[in-house]
Amino acid sequence: MNTQEKYAEYVNTAFVKAVEPIVMERAEGSTCFDESGKAFIDCFAGISVTNAGHGNAQVVEAAKAQMDKLVHCCSYVYHVKPVADLAEKLAAITPGALQKSFFGNGGAEAIEGAMRLAKRFTGKTESVALTQSFHGRSYATLSVTGNSGRKMGGGPYMPGVAFSPSPNCYRCPFQLKPESCDMACAQYLDEVIRTHTSADVAYFIAEPVMGEGGIIAPPDNYFKVVKEVLDRHGILFIADEVQSGFCRTGKMFAIQHYDVEPDIITMAKGIADGFPLSCFIARKEIADAFQVGDHLSTFGGNPVSCAASLANINFMEAENLAQASHDKGEFLKAELAKLTPSSTVIGDIRGRGLMVGVELVTDAKTKEPDAAKAAAVRAQLRDEGVLIGVGGGFGNVLRIQPPLTITEAELSTVVEKLQVALA
Ligand code: PLP
Repeated sequence: MNTQEKYAEYVNTAFVKAVEPIVMERAEGSTCFDESGKAFIDCFAGISVTNAGHGNAQVVEAAKAQMDKLVHCCSYVYHVKPVADLAEKLAAITPGALQKSFFGNGGAEAIEGAMRLAKRFTGKTESVALTQSFHGRSYATLSVTGNSGRKMGGGPYMPGVAFSPSPNCYRCPFQLKPESCDMACAQYLDEVIRTHTSADVAYFIAEPVMGEGGIIAPPDNYFKVVKEVLDRHGILFIADEVQSGFCRTGKMFAIQHYDVEPDIITMAKGIADGFPLSCFIARKEIADAFQVGDHLSTFGGNPVSCAASLANINFMEAENLAQASHDKGEFLKAELAKLTPSSTVIGDIRGRGLMVGVELVTDAKTKEPDAAKAAAVRAQLRDEGVLIGVGGGFGNVLRIQPPLTITEAELSTVVEKLQVALA
């Protein structure tokens, strides 16, 4: 049996209708190569993971050096240098007084831990999240996910979760215009807390730029107003930066666009350029709310992943990848704005840095989502040697989230091929 046949027989790939008909063999920078040597410009980065480029030499070197010394020993039972060094670095690059890190393996694990810590610290039990959000595929993280498509077949979910309308200006839940809405969606959080909860809310969780929801970047003032509401009610703010962190949006963390200090940040994906690692970081007094015996992860804080992560962050700082992501994102959006699709309607082009969404609709006025066209465009681009993602609550948003090391020339090629595919 070849790889595709073995997949069909032995690998549980339930999430997608069909796994892409590619057997991926290797990758370098922003290019992936299949078994036959065919090259693909990667505009999805393994779902927004390889921000510093595939096979980044400094990251791989650091991982190899650590592998020669120590692969595993459980970093919560013994002291391990790369864990300590990475935690110190994260305290330095995260906003405000965020200081103490807990390391796990994937995004959902980080979020579950952050939720538990917030409950411990506040002594409260309930949660508020956003509609159209995505926070992972474990029971608790699906409970705070605001998308029935992702939750199907897993319910009933955790009680005590209320949802506030997402800050989606293209499809405003209040049918208002951004220029004159007075941040109605952020203000409405107060109403949700007062009328949909029993005033026992431990935390509000939100993605500073929503990924799976279709690249929704809240307006500039959104989190300021949200934080004022949360402070009035004594509720912690967990910023889920699993997808938006590590220079993806043009800042090290996306919440830094909003001049607001979260109480806890969760991170994964881009943290180690592909090595499995996640983290939640909190202010000292919050982190110290965990009691002896509360929390542990066998593989969490794996020394190899932590060494890779530190090298990854050092590379990002040395190369000023945040600025590069901002500049290339602006270039990409300007090029996308010049597209003249003949049979497809581009409803919206949006995002921050290299976290860019292109929403396809059948009619600019009715904004009827065109999921079939999005799927067809993705398939044609793949055949033409470009990998993109598709997402959004209606499955009609093209997601362009390449390694941040991608060149403007490569981005221009992507836009040229998109022009053909859209036609
Ligand atoms: N949170 C956000 C914002 C995500 O985008 C994701 C994954 O896409 C997760 C959490 C879950 O991460 P993981 O798949 O590593 O568990």
